Amino acid sequence: MGEGDILIGLEKKNNGLGANINLKNPKCRHSMNEINQATVKQLKENQIGSIISPNDKEFNDIRSLWNGMIDKKPALIFRCQNEEDVAAAIHFSKENDLEVAIRGGGHNVAGLACSDGGIVIDLTEMNSVRVNAKEHRVYAGGGATICDLDRETQKFGLATPMGVVSATGIAGLTLSGGIGWLRNKYGLSSDNLIAAEVVTADGKLVHTSETENSELLWGLRGGGGNFGVVTTFVYRLHEVGPEVMSALVFYPGDSRKEVLHDYREFTDQAPDEVSSIAINGFIPDEPAYPEEIHGEPFIALVAMYSGDPEKGKEILQPLREFSKPMLDLSDVMSYTDVQQLFDEDYPDGRRYYWKSIYLNSLDDEVIDKINEQTEKAPSNLSTVDVWPLGGAMRRVESEETAFGARHAPYLLGIEANWTDPGKDEDNIRWARSCLNVMKSFGGGTYLNFPGFFEEEDTKLPDIYGKNYQRLVDLKTQYDPENLFRLNQNIEPKGK
Ligand SMILES: Cc1cc2nc3c(=O)[nH]c(=O)nc-3n(C[C@H](O)[C@H](O)[C@H](O)COP(=O)(O)OP(=O)(O)OC[C@H]3O[C@@H](n4cnc5c(N)ncnc54)[C@H](O)[C@@H]3O)c2cc1C
Repeated sequence: MGEGDILIGLEKKNNGLGANINLKNPKCRHSMNEINQATVKQLKENQIGSIISPNDKEFNDIRSLWNGMIDKKPALIFRCQNEEDVAAAIHFSKENDLEVAIRGGGHNVAGLACSDGGIVIDLTEMNSVRVNAKEHRVYAGGGATICDLDRETQKFGLATPMGVVSATGIAGLTLSGGIGWLRNKYGLSSDNLIAAEVVTADGKLVHTSETENSELLWGLRGGGGNFGVVTTFVYRLHEVGPEVMSALVFYPGDSRKEVLHDYREFTDQAPDEVSSIAINGFIPDEPAYPEEIHGEPFIALVAMYSGDPEKGKEILQPLREFSKPMLDLSDVMSYTDVQQLFDEDYPDGRRYYWKSIYLNSLDDEVIDKINEQTEKAPSNLSTVDVWPLGGAMRRVESEETAFGARHAPYLLGIEANWTDPGKDEDNIRWARSCLNVMKSFGGGTYLNFPGFFEEEDTKLPDIYGKNYQRLVDLKTQYDPENLFRLNQNIEPKGK
């Protein structure tokens, strides 16, 4: 497929389809409940991937998202297999004025990967990963997960920075930044994105790299899913693993203050090979943890050293000696195991509401507030997480990529995680109130942990700063009608 190819002969394929559609979604004109079966049948015949409608028995499984809080019923799900399928879905949505959701890994906390009444461009099956070890590059489909990517790249002892839970999609994560165990050594996921293939709102395939349509690449490095459907992500690879040293130390909650104090001193001078998180919470009542400590407050220090594991043991040792640990699971392990350390803590279908704020410091007053707010969490599954930010990710200038400012020394993640739908309000209220308290010590939001964006007071022009106007121009160029608006939306000019 060449640059700018129009991917579909949709005159032929969608001829006359969807004429009698009537959307329930207020943002759309019709209701897809009324798409007739003949239309669906004809669409199915013309698409390589499957098309799932509410009448199909797998509909409920396929529409469901990781966050159990979200319950949206799309009119049709286009399970795409290739760029032509994606373009066909785009064309169909435009013909019928249907809202479009793009699903990468389906792990967006706010559930933006599904539409109520519109269509879903579902890339789950476009998850192939191809490594060019010689050139230290990997080509990954828009539906690949971190697990898919790590599995293939580690066959060659290579990796690119991703997040810390392996079921997460690379797409949503990269398009809004991407922080994990390699951030200090190699930067954000989006900093390592060196090229991409994108089906844009006009159904064309656009290649972007640092030398070709480079403004689009600039926008994909942090500007979210605003500019089109990314069908292929190309990343730079680095030598990592196969074994790395990982620290995983739980200290009792009453030592939080001293531990966070020592942790601050440690991370201030740690080499770039160290990326870490301090997690404040309560030991879950789960078999993975000794029963006698279930429900106990803790602070866990989790870190990875991305170089030689023997050196890593030495460098990470202080993290294991700040106080008397309740549990120390630190060890040399495979990089892929480190990438999956938290997987079981985030099962599909649980209820989640996450907020975040950048902190100016981790001084004693901030530490006290973190401690106080953690203790107030209504659910034992919730945590307050300190992510020290440094090294490579902070050396990129704010205007070099769309991501924007990245010079705060810490990100605070506020994770409300719970199971009882009757407790939704309590948990959301806690996360918001925790955020309000912490606003005295920082500002901004990390767009991968933004709450349920539309309901928040988060303002994109503030988040993107000087980059915002450039993003508006790019949006106006690639999506002037704002087809891709079910996201942290950058509105095109005139809309
Ligand atoms: C358990 C868990 C752990 C996490 N850990 C981390 C972490 O360690 N570090 C971190 O930085 N973030 C982390 N996150 C946040 C994560 O980066 C976001 O939730 C991200 O949106 C997930 O990407 P996805 O592809 O799974 O999302 P989806 O829900 O599939 O998509 C989210 C949005 O991204 C856009 N999008 C998705 N695919 C495409 C595409 N192919 N083309 C264009 N736009 C697209 C769309 O706007 C879509 O609405 C975590 C999230 C979860 C649930």
